[in-house]
Amino acid sequence: MTDLTRLTAAETAAKIAAGEVTAVAVTEAHLARIEAVDEKVHAFLHVDREGALAQARAVDEKRARGEQLGPLAGVPLALKDIFTTEGIPTTVGSKILEGWIPPYDATLTRRLKDADVVILGKTNMDEFAMGSSTENSAYGPTGNPWDLTRIPGGSGGGSSAAIASYEAPLAIGTDTGGSIRQPAAVTGTVGVKPTYGAVSRYGMVAFSSSLDQGGPCARTVLDAALLHEVIAGHDPLDSTSIDAPVPAVVEAARNGDVTGMRIGVVKEFAGEGYQAGVMQRFNESVELLRELGAEIVEISCPSFDKALAAYYLIAPSECSSNLARFDAMRYGLRVGDDGTRSAEEVTALTRAAGFGPEVKRRIMLGTYALSSGYYDAYYGSAQKVRTLITQDFAKAFEQVDVLISPTTPTTAFPIGERADDPMAMYLADLCTIPSNLAGNSAMSLPCGLAPEDGLPVGLQIIAPALADDRLYRVGAAVEAAFTARWGHPLLEEAPSL
Ligand code: GLN
Repeated sequence: MTDLTRLTAAETAAKIAAGEVTAVAVTEAHLARIEAVDEKVHAFLHVDREGALAQARAVDEKRARGEQLGPLAGVPLALKDIFTTEGIPTTVGSKILEGWIPPYDATLTRRLKDADVVILGKTNMDEFAMGSSTENSAYGPTGNPWDLTRIPGGSGGGSSAAIASYEAPLAIGTDTGGSIRQPAAVTGTVGVKPTYGAVSRYGMVAFSSSLDQGGPCARTVLDAALLHEVIAGHDPLDSTSIDAPVPAVVEAARNGDVTGMRIGVVKEFAGEGYQAGVMQRFNESVELLRELGAEIVEISCPSFDKALAAYYLIAPSECSSNLARFDAMRYGLRVGDDGTRSAEEVTALTRAAGFGPEVKRRIMLGTYALSSGYYDAYYGSAQKVRTLITQDFAKAFEQVDVLISPTTPTTAFPIGERADDPMAMYLADLCTIPSNLAGNSAMSLPCGLAPEDGLPVGLQIIAPALADDRLYRVGAAVEAAFTARWGHPLLEEAPSL
């Protein structure tokens, strides 16, 4: 019998629709897999066994009644613990929300349920999505299925590890500076940051509202596209949601082709700090795209060098404001409320106990950058750099259809290696941050294993805003060519499980 956890989402949905397998059997297979490996991987913070089986049963009943099933009906998914789920804990990887049960579903959660996607549970993440390794989770780190002593990326390491370890074929991440793409790169999976505003932020706990974007994680480009189509679309509950048709991403993923496309290689994304094996696989990908009929153009984006600095002023500034709502009165943890203390004292004690060191660092940095007297020097300057980066992209996209780069400068680093060195940690997002600052779309997909350590390398494809379909067209072409070379999009089974 086929192992149901090894199928793609597209294959699983087709088998369920054809009646070859039930949604309940598919869900049970994934729950069993979670049971078998998640003690080691720690991708999940919460597994909703009963809820998942109930959702699966509803799909089987729908089919039995002869109702039309959606393209992902009955397919299991791992949901990043940053989206609210009615009746199911939502912690954002923080102690401050421990025990909080949201009374409502995020728009994204609702869309998944309406599409009959089976939500298996909530995945581990860096606290409030701040980090690149999932080590900042208040609930302990997640292991990379390729080597459990290494990081699975972050902040969405739980989501990427869940799909790389076959605990789920699909997952949801959020990307403020790279938290979908960098975990995808280091786990050999596919992750997409859609155009800013494409996927609703309603019910997605805010970190940096002008940068945060939810998006799909999967093992194949087509699966990511199928999920993209389910979660994207206008939402009147989110004032920054784009009121425009969702680009035809599934059609693009089914028609991978780069013939005649102009593809730009970003000159600034190379050099010191880039691992040799990462550059080797990237350069091979460039050659592959040339062989497939693309025209390769070198592009310079001079302001990208300042992206990291601008991000680490803008994101902390917005976080210092967004996280003010965790005041011990409204949600989750409350410390020191013994009848003798004032509300202010309880708020202070709760925030001191409930937030971890990285979150506190960012709140302090952001509060400082926004304070009068420093606003123009820091926050104001960072916003000017943001405009320059947007202009660099605009100029680049006058010359090329998409840009490409390595997704991350290195492969997965050992757990603990950068934990006490925030700057080293921040560098993991060097290549991903510009797209958040400009709001355009970007994808990471596997492009081989680095020869020196045998770990996955990610290729980043960047497209203009609202041209997300180009990511899938190019991604599908690259994936098909690499699959022919390797025999499987995930390169091979992640070895450590
Ligand atoms: N690693 C980056 C940070 O720590 C990006 C995080 C994210 O995209 N959520 O802010």
